[in-house]
Amino acid sequence: MQLSVKDLDYIIEGTKVLDAVSLCVEEGGFVGLIGPNGCGKSTLLKNIYKTYKPERNAVFISGKDVMEMPPKEMAGEVSVVAQENNVEFDVEVLDMVMYGRYAHRRFLEGEKKEDIELCRQFLREVGMEGYEHRMYLSLSGGEKQRVLLARALTQQSRLIVLDEPTNHLDVRYQYLIMQTLKKQKITVFSSIHDLNIASMYCDKIILMDRGRIVAVGRPEEIITEKYMQEVFGVRSQIKVNEITGKIQIYYLSDNCKDC
Ligand code: ADP
Ligand code: MG
Repeated sequence: MQLSVKDLDYIIEGTKVLDAVSLCVEEGGFVGLIGPNGCGKSTLLKNIYKTYKPERNAVFISGKDVMEMPPKEMAGEVSVVAQENNVEFDVEVLDMVMYGRYAHRRFLEGEKKEDIELCRQFLREVGMEGYEHRMYLSLSGGEKQRVLLARALTQQSRLIVLDEPTNHLDVRYQYLIMQTLKKQKITVFSSIHDLNIASMYCDKIILMDRGRIVAVGRPEEIITEKYMQEVFGVRSQIKVNEITGKIQIYYLSDNCKDC
């Protein structure tokens, strides 16, 4: 088991934002986390990569309690593409990606040629070749997002955790990013906003609602008309696409129960 969460609660200002959350992500899996806005997806992911401090004995990566793992060991095990990245000082794109090699370098060790080559290779994979010497803060939202993915991949950890990684991207790059992730020999755990993208790439989906896990299963078991109605409050029709063989969701008009 690459990642497991056991009975995790998290309280923000007196509100239980996560309520007894348990889940597991097997090695090599591509697992999507879905659920309505505010259901606790980002809070859960932040507990996993320790932006928030989880309880002890609640989050395990490769069998180890994350609270027992020093930063460098953590960086060797898990890479992260978070949603908000407050970059305080500007750097060139190549340097930003080089930060991903942190776990692999000794104190005060210089950059190795292989490290730079690896960074260039992942920049190519995310469609950012030629941007190596651009300043990071001058990039568009989607370009930044792709650079952050390249940075996470150069870390070469066995697990990558992402929070809505395709949010700023146009449709071509949404698919490029998911395809790039799928190609790697890496376990993926990602919150995903677009349910058609989730059904296309994930082998397992975890559905959350109001701080709890409601259902876990294959995309066709979770992305159903019933759950769309119950959890998202939206009427839909779900069909198998004859070209991809994957399920596809169509949202129906007059479909919002609160409107
Ligand atoms: P999601 O990522 O699924 O949209 P979040 O995990 O960001 O949801 O938020 C879950 C809930 O916790 C929401 O109701 C949100 O308003 C609340 N929340 C998150 N962060 C804070 C915070 N810093 N202070 C108060 N409430 C918060
Ligand atoms: Mg979120």
